Amino acid sequence: MTDTIAPPDLATLPLPARESHSSLSAYAACPRRYAFRYVARLPGEVPRWWFTFGSAVHCAFEAFDRARVRARLDGAGAPGLDVLNRAFGDAVDASGCEPEEAARYRARSEPVLLAYLQRAAASDAEPVGVELGFGVDVPVPGDETPVRLVGYVDRIDRRPDGAVELIDHKTGKLRSQEEVDRDRQLTAYAFACARGALRDPATGEALPAAARLGLHFAEAGVTVWTTRSAEELDAFGARVADEVGAIRRREFGPRPGTACRWCEYRAACPDASPPTP
Ligand code: SF4
Repeated sequence: MTDTIAPPDLATLPLPARESHSSLSAYAACPRRYAFRYVARLPGEVPRWWFTFGSAVHCAFEAFDRARVRARLDGAGAPGLDVLNRAFGDAVDASGCEPEEAARYRARSEPVLLAYLQRAAASDAEPVGVELGFGVDVPVPGDETPVRLVGYVDRIDRRPDGAVELIDHKTGKLRSQEEVDRDRQLTAYAFACARGALRDPATGEALPAAARLGLHFAEAGVTVWTTRSAEELDAFGARVADEVGAIRRREFGPRPGTACRWCEYRAACPDASPPTP
């Protein structure tokens, strides 16, 4: 039987110095889960197969987009499918999965990588940044120490008219326009960009506020676009401040519900919802 985790530990352990979209989303879903992961830093039991294919696709897209940026700066020809296939294969090999599993992933990746290559060839936008990091300070009312919000944007493109687009890659199921309009990860990216926290790696200059934001669904070969208004970005900043205020007050109560089913700590959590039959 797995031992349960003593919540009193969470009253004294140091709090994270920085937050991200992922950590604050975890807090919003279940403060106890956030505390297990980001305060107590407990290892979670996440099956490896959850991530192998998605991680390998991300690696392939990243290698390809970095090659596109280099080619543009060097005035060289655009990279080809070989760059995508090699990076995907290297990532699958590094995962240590069984040969049959690796073969299934490779077969599944073929249309995905080809479609990505074709989209790049047909686009008039140029990538200016890949896995570009940011850090932006958000004031926390009643506390003189702001919170540092950090993250990485999968790809940043610049259109011929100079407009900037922020793109995040997804290997999960295609989401609706309404879901993408509410996507908090994209809002975090737009917030950082609007506050000058994303810089052109070639010039060091702050990029202008994003003209649009996109989730690219790799297996569907579809990018769903959205925008964020200044009011929405202000509301995002206020919500970050509220959540960090609660974290600093160590409000780590459990929020049992459907999320327990997928929680990596459910075996160790005394408050986990019972599994549905
Ligand atoms: S099992 Fe449920 S209540 Fe417990 S930490 Fe996970 S999500 Fe929260």
